[in-house]
Amino acid sequence: MAAKGLRLVIVGGGAAGISAASTTKAIAPETSVVLFSEYEDVAYSPCGIPFVHGREIPNFEALFLQSRQHYADVGIDLQLETRVTRVDLRERKVYVGSRAYEWDRLIIATGFDYERPDIAGSDLEGLHYVKNIRRAMEFDRLLEQIKKVVVVSASPLGIEMAGNLARRGLETHLVDESGWLMSEVADPDIMQPVEESLKSLGTKIHLGTKVLGFVGSNGKVKSVKTTTGELDCDVAVMATHKRPNNLLAREAGLEIGSTGGILVDDRMRTRVDGVYAAGDCVEVIHGGTELPVQGLSGSHAYSQGRVAAANAVGEQRSYDPVFIPWGMVGGDVHVGGVSLGETLHKMLGIPHFVAAATGISRARYYPGVTKVRVKLIVEPKTLRVTGAQMAGGEGIKERADFLGFALKRGATLEDFAWMENVYSPPIGALMEPIALAAQAGLTQVKQLRQA
Ligand SMILES: Cc1cc2nc3c(=O)[nH]c(=O)nc-3n(C[C@H](O)[C@H](O)[C@H](O)COP(=O)(O)OP(=O)(O)OC[C@H]3O[C@@H](n4cnc5c(N)ncnc54)[C@H](O)[C@@H]3O)c2cc1C
Repeated sequence: MAAKGLRLVIVGGGAAGISAASTTKAIAPETSVVLFSEYEDVAYSPCGIPFVHGREIPNFEALFLQSRQHYADVGIDLQLETRVTRVDLRERKVYVGSRAYEWDRLIIATGFDYERPDIAGSDLEGLHYVKNIRRAMEFDRLLEQIKKVVVVSASPLGIEMAGNLARRGLETHLVDESGWLMSEVADPDIMQPVEESLKSLGTKIHLGTKVLGFVGSNGKVKSVKTTTGELDCDVAVMATHKRPNNLLAREAGLEIGSTGGILVDDRMRTRVDGVYAAGDCVEVIHGGTELPVQGLSGSHAYSQGRVAAANAVGEQRSYDPVFIPWGMVGGDVHVGGVSLGETLHKMLGIPHFVAAATGISRARYYPGVTKVRVKLIVEPKTLRVTGAQMAGGEGIKERADFLGFALKRGATLEDFAWMENVYSPPIGALMEPIALAAQAGLTQVKQLRQA
């Protein structure tokens, strides 16, 4: 169905909102698009912020991907520093205070908020939540004047911040209640090399340590109280859990799922006609467990925004259940995976065994070669691979993407064991580490069957 003269309102200017706006204009340029964001800017990559702090990226300007003028030129009305205060689903209007904006289609892309701990001193100045680029620029100037930082939570962001701040020469402490880094996603053995790498950069790691409160002086944080002692600091970086920002949707009466994300179907439609939602404010289905999941990555938010927009203007696009390939650099170590790791399989009681091997990233004689450890998590009856985790010095991201695709297609240990692979000394070894892990798994199966 054509979208002539439709009025589309988008609430949110992050990855989901901005991709929805651009997709709409690409597919149906005649659509009137108004996008609201609380922030001063759109179209920047928040993902690069930790690396500017660490001076791996020279400046914040490099993180801007498009100018505001570009959006004006393609006919997107950006309403920045403008908070939508209410959505009226019956009248089909959004409100900014008393000012109303009508819509025929609405996309809610209000993203995530960090969990704010309800503990003493959490309102002190100096607790920094990394999100808005303007605040990051101010924080970066502050880093010039200070010496000690405590990073709260060994989440992916916490690890990136801890590594980069240590690299910048600050006394950096990373505190986490769990026994290993990124325990919500990754296995302890996979994260061990990251821990060692962070330590070699000078990061002081405090695992099994709960933050009890923040102690201030003249309204500013001066130390963090933990179960293993008090850590002096000039600022605390709060890399806490991401929560769906469902406030507007909830108040409007949209359905919220068990994770706190807005309920959408495979077209990113809410249950209200003409109303879509995308990005970190929604929950989607995990392809392996068929359970709802929430708070994925920028690339998921971006794709969901595109799907929501295409459907909003009359196309038929679906968003598949997710297998969540992930990857990152912690210190100098690359880690990644797809779907659930060994720990989560155990916690959820999913039958499995682990097939693992350590291979190499290039020909063994080629300068720069690094080890690549691959763990495949396997369903014992069918030998279908249901998850993977990896650590190494390079090539992890590409393996995670490949595994994500293969798992979605139901690949088994046999498929991986005898897969074809590229061999070229500077970029790939004769034996692909994923295939080595799968072959090791098949040997285990054979031995078990013979026993
Ligand atoms: C520091 C940092 C590092 C990251 N690193 C990575 C990475 O390495 N890889 C990766 O894939 N992803 C990364 N991400 C992306 C991130 O984890 C999210 O997945 C992504 O930001 C989600 O995009 P979103 O558009 O759904 O929401 P958000 O980015 O949260 O954007 C929400 C938008 O909604 C607006 N908004 C909310 N409420 C209102 C309202 N009432 N009125 C008007 N506007 C409103 C906000 O102003 C904002 O523009 C990173 C994010 C951050 C902050």
